[in-house]
Amino acid sequence: MRILVQKFGGTSVASPEARACVVEKIRQALKKGFMPVVVVSAMGRKGDNYATDTLIGLAREACRNIAQRELDHIMYCGEMISAVIMTGFLQAAGIDAVMMTGGQAGIVTDNRFTNARVLNVDPTKINNQLRLGRVPVVCGFQGMTADGEFTTLGRGGSDTSASLLGAALDAELIEIYTDVEGIMTADPRIVKNAKILDVISYGEVAQLAYQGAKVIHPRAVEIAAQKNIPLVIKSTFSDAPGTMIVKECHEQTVTDRLATGVTHLPNIAQIKVDVDDVKTHKESSVIFRTLADAAISVDLINVHPGHVMFTVAEEMADEAIAKLTSLGYNAEVNHDCAKVSVVGGGICGVPGVMASFTEALSMYNIPIMQTVDSHTTISVLVKLSDVETAVKALHEKFLLA
Ligand code: ADP
Ligand code: ASP
Ligand code: MG
Repeated sequence: MRILVQKFGGTSVASPEARACVVEKIRQALKKGFMPVVVVSAMGRKGDNYATDTLIGLAREACRNIAQRELDHIMYCGEMISAVIMTGFLQAAGIDAVMMTGGQAGIVTDNRFTNARVLNVDPTKINNQLRLGRVPVVCGFQGMTADGEFTTLGRGGSDTSASLLGAALDAELIEIYTDVEGIMTADPRIVKNAKILDVISYGEVAQLAYQGAKVIHPRAVEIAAQKNIPLVIKSTFSDAPGTMIVKECHEQTVTDRLATGVTHLPNIAQIKVDVDDVKTHKESSVIFRTLADAAISVDLINVHPGHVMFTVAEEMADEAIAKLTSLGYNAEVNHDCAKVSVVGGGICGVPGVMASFTEALSMYNIPIMQTVDSHTTISVLVKLSDVETAVKALHEKFLLA
């Protein structure tokens, strides 16, 4: 069996016109001799009736601190509605399709509600449907614990579902269909002249995704990479070839480029904690253990004699400050920040990269609040109000040069 996983995001299943395009993509796969396994997201985006954000809003209207377990039940509904509608659409078009939940598709998780980890994927039921010549339409984002609790895989997790199924079914290819024609050098909503990348390595795209390029979930990339299954990101609404994600890129376009893309992550708060400058190392371990015990994850960490600086997600900032002040620390928070990153396998060891980075920002008088770098990424923290200008300036400097 030549298995092809085809995942369709929220905008791809949001309207009858969009669903007609989805039917066409599935028909093309069948014509090429593939057995497609379809994965769908909830219909639409924030503000749309059955989108995940709308369902979360509905639950939080009833109770601001609704338990994560109950939240997972309402989030489940988005993909459930979408898969039923899409299956109906396929059946009406004469394609023998069958809707399956994440649990029915064999995705077994732990019980970390709203952000569950996958323990095992048992593709038996999907294989049974494929043997009957049916097209399974699986609810993305969903899992189930071994004892039957409903779980979800974290926001944007339908991509993860697609890769999990691709890996479990030994798929020839995983196609991620969305509303853009591939992975671009920056978010096209900010940089109008961002370019499509024809080919990119798993490593580069995972880094872009972790640093905020929402076009694919980083876990989806990692899972496909582990089994070396090629991933393609393409548009539901055109025949453009999209971006091919592969193990290593020997293409000139990839190895010769310095930077691959510019990304941004909004909704970050910077926290600065005063510590004893002689006992900084001891106090920093207390600070980070306290935050870890409260399940607050930290980023952009700087430890200096006399103070410790780091960032947290905006929604965790108040809790982090409360925990630290309760221990007697003086902690200051700087709200409304964003992380901007330049990612590229080619930046490692090249002199002048940081110089170009800082020149680009200083040209627009954008203050840098913190920096961090690795062999493939340079990131800075800026004020949220500067983020769009920073992304445009860095794109201009690194990707249009
Ligand atoms: P889906 O619902 O199909 O999963 P998403 O909204 O999760 O769609 O992802 C697609 C969106 O990702 C695009 O509309 C685009 O605005 C955004 N995006 C952010 N960064 C990038 C990038 N580097 N390349 C392409 N799209 C990007
Ligand atoms: N519907 C879920 C979300 O919005 C999962 C997904 O779309 O990938 O996070
Ligand atoms: Mg997505």
